[in-house]
Amino acid sequence: MSFHLTILGTGSANPVVTRNATSHFLMVEQEGYLFDCGEATQTQLLRFKLKATRIKYIFITHLHGDHFFGLIGLLSTLNMHHRVDDLYIYGPKGLAEVLTLQMKYSDTRLNFKVHFEETRSEESYLLMENDYVKVTTIPLVHRVPCCGFLIEEKEKPHKILKELLPSHISIEQIKCLKDGQDVLDDNGEVLYSCDYYTIKGPAPDSYAFCTDTAYHPAILPIIKGVKLLYHETTFLHELVERAKETCHSTAYQAGQIAKEAGAKNLLIGHFSSRYKDLTPFIDEAKQVFHNTILGEDGMSIDFRDLV
Ligand SMILES: [Zn+2]
Ligand SMILES: [Zn+2]
Repeated sequence: MSFHLTILGTGSANPVVTRNATSHFLMVEQEGYLFDCGEATQTQLLRFKLKATRIKYIFITHLHGDHFFGLIGLLSTLNMHHRVDDLYIYGPKGLAEVLTLQMKYSDTRLNFKVHFEETRSEESYLLMENDYVKVTTIPLVHRVPCCGFLIEEKEKPHKILKELLPSHISIEQIKCLKDGQDVLDDNGEVLYSCDYYTIKGPAPDSYAFCTDTAYHPAILPIIKGVKLLYHETTFLHELVERAKETCHSTAYQAGQIAKEAGAKNLLIGHFSSRYKDLTPFIDEAKQVFHNTILGEDGMSIDFRDLV
């Protein structure tokens, strides 16, 4: 199992033709996790040949339009395509009310069930988990309540060293070793040691989605050691005062967060429409944190390729 991410939009509030509003699509075990859903996200899914029907979980950070104005359109289209599978939406207070009103006055009746869960942005907590991943909230600092998300793969099973296994070992005992536990005999003594018969699986994948936010080092313990950190960079550092006023971050600050968190990789996006050439963003972030990726609409990242 590996995470596979596609960036659907790297723009911010003011539209530009080259950068769509924010949305990231993460595939894990054939299930889609959508992080934010700016206007025209469904068109971007089509453009980059991603199946919207795969989306099972949607996470909305906050109620600025560039992060959720595409949601009602996406839900309507899924309905038109006769979706029957349940959908899980996590978002701030007010989102369910907005969607309900939009559906009421557009006479949209969903054929599928939506499980809505309101997020709280004052503290970090475990939001959801399934067989493969768990998602924790990341409280952010913005002009409206805003909460980022950390999605982490559950521990990968240990790899069995088959050549060492005794011929009479049972399936249950092998399963026990794979789960990282020693096999004990009736007296509680170690019969087969996990350390001897297995090697630890690869490090679990993890992805932190942090937008929109002012520079906020309080998130560091939550995202410590994350494999890929997405951090917004609305401005270059020459506009650090503007970033502070509007509760956004600069490329330099995103680099600082990645460095101090011990992130393995940094992905940047949410660029202000005032910037045509984005080269200065990558240059600025790399001054602090070398493993920085400049986000682009349609870019796809297989976590197996990351350091
Ligand atoms: Zn935004
Ligand atoms: Zn915002």
